[in-house]
Amino acid sequence: MSHARLASALLALLTACRQPSPPPEKIEPEPPTPATTAATPTPGPRPGADAVPPVRKDGTVYAESELMGTRVSINVWVGPPDQADAAAAGQAIREAFAEMVRLEGIMSEWQPDSELSHLGDVAGGEPQRLSPELLEVLRRSREIAEDTGGAFDPTFHGVGQLWSFRPGAKPPSPEAIAAALSLVGWQHLELDPAAGTGRLAKPGMRLGLGAIGKGYAADVASALLARKGFPNHVVEVGGDTFAAGHKDGKPWMVGIQRPDGPGVVGAVPASDLAVVTSGDYQRFFEYEGKRYAHIIDPKTGWPVPAERSPKSVTLVAKTGTDADAYCTAVAVMGVDAGFAFAEAHEGLDVVIITQDDELRVTSGLRDVLVLPDPPAADAPSPAGSVDGERQLP
Ligand code: ADP
Ligand code: MG
Repeated sequence: MSHARLASALLALLTACRQPSPPPEKIEPEPPTPATTAATPTPGPRPGADAVPPVRKDGTVYAESELMGTRVSINVWVGPPDQADAAAAGQAIREAFAEMVRLEGIMSEWQPDSELSHLGDVAGGEPQRLSPELLEVLRRSREIAEDTGGAFDPTFHGVGQLWSFRPGAKPPSPEAIAAALSLVGWQHLELDPAAGTGRLAKPGMRLGLGAIGKGYAADVASALLARKGFPNHVVEVGGDTFAAGHKDGKPWMVGIQRPDGPGVVGAVPASDLAVVTSGDYQRFFEYEGKRYAHIIDPKTGWPVPAERSPKSVTLVAKTGTDADAYCTAVAVMGVDAGFAFAEAHEGLDVVIITQDDELRVTSGLRDVLVLPDPPAADAPSPAGSVDGERQLP
């Protein structure tokens, strides 16, 4: 078989074993639990809210929803269809969606009344009491900011809010960016876990959790499903995947999306692992012949320049929270520095796709990543190819 045919056969196979498989079942998330019980009317049942998704032939129950500004799906392996409790699985999935809606209400930088937005509104003032979930995400955000030398930084939003990445958008003025840069710096996010409080030290500072919130939500949803008696599942929040346990005794297979089209370039076998992909193709605009993508270098206030930006980074870590944030950090560092960082960092692995479609895989993933076979031995190898580098088929 020619290399091209072999590759496309393998891609078809990978697409087939990718979880979940269609057809999806739409489930409405339950309304979030109100923060206070005072005089809140009890919401009535929503159409479709009680629909029980079927157990599919492969023993999974699958549902998806639209929340956190993205598509979210949950796939639970419940075992042989004749022994499965589809109703209980459906209920656990609904509760997991509802929990994510609740988290979004706390952590969204786009909802003016979220706890996160409030923290920005009173920046420079007194410490604020924080919900345990927000405190936890901010605590981990701060640690990862420090660990990545500020490549990931939740306070990037001080300058990030100047940018829109909708098609047709324009860059802000260099003067506006330079002025907002003084509002960026994770060191000025002050947390007191013992007191349960936090504050932003400088007036005007803003927080954005776009690079960690989805991974955290996947972790929380996964823990909830396990607590409800469903330890084997995959939660996917807009490209951030946490795979727990197994599917019928085998690890879940998580596909790595092709940056330039449908299908996958490979797959990562995952059991109790997060696999997160972030790409410069996801959200960007072009202006005067230059491309501006949505990951911002907190040191400059500008998007990561194309010269060092990967086409995509797939990062594998123990939790969705870590994978999400480190994935963005590696993208900010760029291909070479980001690869070196992940290789040296215990517990992190990456697959980086470069602008030239080279695949760079850290050592911890080389033997497990499922990829199409390389070209025959007599075929020319990509120029400068070193161990762990492959060309995208
Ligand atoms: P996606 O949200 O598309 O999955 P990422 O996980 O890489 O992609 O997160 C990108 C988002 O993270 C941006 O849209 C923005 O909200 C936020 N962000 C951008 N740059 C940084 C940065 N340097 N540090 C922290 N968050 C960032
Ligand atoms: Mg992310």
